[in-house]
Amino acid sequence: MRAAPRSISIFGATGSIGESTFDLVMRAGGPEVFHTVALTGARNVARLAEMARALQAEVAVTADPACLPALRDALAGSGVEAAAGEAALVEAADRPADWVMSAIVGFAGFAPGLAALRHGRTLALANKESLVTAGPLLMETAAAHGARILPVDSEHSAVFQALAGEDIAAVERIIITASGGAFRDWPLERLAQASVAEASTHPNWAMGQRITIDSASMFNKALEVIETREYFNVEPAMIEVLVHPESLVHAMVGFRDGALMAHLGAPDMRHAIGYALNWPERAHLPVARLDLAQIGRLSFAAPDPARYPALTLAREVMAIRGLAGAVFNAAKEAALDGFIAGRLSFPGMAGVVEEVLARMSAQTGLGIATISLDNLRDADSEARRLAGAVIASARI
Ligand code: NAD
Ligand code: MG
Repeated sequence: MRAAPRSISIFGATGSIGESTFDLVMRAGGPEVFHTVALTGARNVARLAEMARALQAEVAVTADPACLPALRDALAGSGVEAAAGEAALVEAADRPADWVMSAIVGFAGFAPGLAALRHGRTLALANKESLVTAGPLLMETAAAHGARILPVDSEHSAVFQALAGEDIAAVERIIITASGGAFRDWPLERLAQASVAEASTHPNWAMGQRITIDSASMFNKALEVIETREYFNVEPAMIEVLVHPESLVHAMVGFRDGALMAHLGAPDMRHAIGYALNWPERAHLPVARLDLAQIGRLSFAAPDPARYPALTLAREVMAIRGLAGAVFNAAKEAALDGFIAGRLSFPGMAGVVEEVLARMSAQTGLGIATISLDNLRDADSEARRLAGAVIASARI
């Protein structure tokens, strides 16, 4: 029996992951093969409408209500419904679809993903913030409703693939790799002078500015370590990060018999997206094939904690759990805004996050057992407020 999806929705269709998903869906036959339920975006309504027409979607949703008239105009005569706002995003996630791509950026992606899981859908999860802020809630919801979450990040897809047919109880360690980012080889003392433009250049991956800066600081890897802990439900001590400048080995899984299963592939997100789209089958994907003889060598190094303090902070977050992930994510976002706006140095970002985590766990204790949409939102806004105050105090 073919288990590949027939009906799909793409949340965050106009973004980098969304565009790659659209590309794969169109290459596979577009509306001939898939029934598209919902496509969503934010302010780029022209592109959203174009995609919705190409896939003959049931509904296109813009996150911004002010963009609804423009979306309606762009969809005139197409037969595609137009909708707008947060509630419309959740309503779109309530519509029956076999496979749902969660590729909205930020905490805004959480509620639609949760709604899809409550309906027992298969959720292809790119949105990092969901697992980092509310991993247990997401995983418990999936289990309670017979839903499945397929990871869409190169590292987590690699681990997932290395684990196929294996017993998680036989796993000793999970190693995720990191390129080391733009400043891997810089002298440490120069980091305080790093500019936004310098931090926005990635050695291997073409991605948005924010995630590229998060790669240089390894905040991105810190989020991925937390995601690994939540998704695979392994002890934090079993998760390791390895600097691998070539970005060809995405992850490795070590088993108790000493075997280490590595996943290699070109740095192209269409692999992880395509794997999730076709799972459990493997379809032909338009990604580059590796010529290892030509590549010649692969190199690995342990990450230097002084260069990448975000990795140490991830360990703290995993030890506290509860609302610590939400605070970490929000403080990181605010610190990144501060760096981009020129109000904070590059190393100052980790300083802000560390201070916000320390103050909020001292004030309220973040390790509460039950997390809900409400207390997540409260923790998120308090962490942003506090980060703003720490940045304004200019001590970092
Ligand atoms: P992006 O910024 O390119 O696209 C984000 C999408 O979300 C767009 O469609 C945008 O219109 C929409 N959006 C933005 N704000 C919104 C809001 N408030 N409400 C609803 N929709 C909104 O981001 P991306 O790079 O495609 O990443 C999406 C997610 O996937 C992120 O969580 C990111 O961390 C994760 N991810 C990305 C990559 C990558 O290579 N780009 C790799 C792994 C994981
Ligand atoms: Mg990644």
